Amino acid sequence: MKTVIMAGGKGTRISSIASDIPKPMIRIGDKPVLQLEIESLKKQGFHDFIITISHLGHVIRDYFGDGSDFGVNIEYYNEEKPLGNAGALFELRDRLTEDFLLINGDVLFEFDANRFVEYHRKKGGLVTLFTHPNSHPYDSGLIIADNNCCVTRWLSKEDERPLYYRNRVNAGIHILSPKVLENRIEKEKIDLDRDVLKPLCGKGVMYAYDSTEYVKDMGTPERYEQVSRDLLSGKVERRSLSHQQKAIFLDRDGTINRYVGFLRKIDQFELLPHVSEAIRMINDSEYLAIVVTNQPVIARGEVTFEELNEIHMKMETLLGKEGAYIDRLYFCPHHPDSGFEGEVKQLKIVCDCRKPKPGMLLKAAEDYNIDLNQSYMIGDGDNDMGAGSAAGCKCIRIDRDGDLSEAVRQALNEEI
Ligand SMILES: [Zn+2]
Repeated sequence: MKTVIMAGGKGTRISSIASDIPKPMIRIGDKPVLQLEIESLKKQGFHDFIITISHLGHVIRDYFGDGSDFGVNIEYYNEEKPLGNAGALFELRDRLTEDFLLINGDVLFEFDANRFVEYHRKKGGLVTLFTHPNSHPYDSGLIIADNNCCVTRWLSKEDERPLYYRNRVNAGIHILSPKVLENRIEKEKIDLDRDVLKPLCGKGVMYAYDSTEYVKDMGTPERYEQVSRDLLSGKVERRSLSHQQKAIFLDRDGTINRYVGFLRKIDQFELLPHVSEAIRMINDSEYLAIVVTNQPVIARGEVTFEELNEIHMKMETLLGKEGAYIDRLYFCPHHPDSGFEGEVKQLKIVCDCRKPKPGMLLKAAEDYNIDLNQSYMIGDGDNDMGAGSAAGCKCIRIDRDGDLSEAVRQALNEEI
């Protein structure tokens, strides 16, 4: 698969660090970020690159040449006049005969690219967007998708957003079919997001790939400092799903939100104090934050899947406002005892996912390559401790509506 790297931007926001070189040539450690991108993909079998250049593009061309010094093939497309970040793609149509990887040239990442490609093929769409939660969803563009991860809406920063939304942000890495470039867009400057991708929403051809891997742009001096630290410490590399991950599994009711018995109405959902702080600590650590919750209210017919989804979007929105995010949530909708009025018969079963069974943790381990023995389960109930130990995790019990940050601190300290 070919990789197109968009390296034509100007990078004005970061000009305090370097103003006379293109943004992708800014060094992190001893290498330009563009080189780190190429090396990361090369070791995974990607050898053919096309780099689109404009502003100060000769600096990039002089450094990389035809790629042979780096063990890859590199071609260039030089924009004589600015075409917008997607204009060059239309000029490159003849060279893009198969699905291709499209990435921004100023993003530090380490992700399992073959896993991403496999997902794209399985979904069979024209476009797959690499998406992830971030610590500032309230001022980020948001990707909204259905249960099958098919993208239905794309909210830009300035668009009005729903009251509650899932923390799912476009990371600037995509796979595109050349079919997307078949219809010429009659504009002088073509913007990838606005003019090419956004119009595909709701057409059943664009999918989101939710990932926990490390992808960060270095658009501001603060972010630049952070990605530099993360690269040096090895965190960037370790977050790739080609390596085993560690997780802190969290119960929901009584651990994240105030316990109210069966929570049926969205208004009853209230974050406990210290929860955002606790989850931010997990986000800054080497652990994934994964929620695993029994929700028999579904089987009991008291809450629909849609209502539960709305409740979880409220949770993500409230956490997001305080800079915290969860990497994934699993819920068990089942309940074993049948014979009640209003129940959903097919969910009244003895399942493998209802805690204290470890099904949700085992599924997470499979989905995210998690080493359960290096992971924690934190919750307020016997069923949490049961599920955690059955999965082989270390368990920390907190009081109902207790202080989650203490438990997280304990887990993170034990590791050191
Ligand atoms: Zn279940």
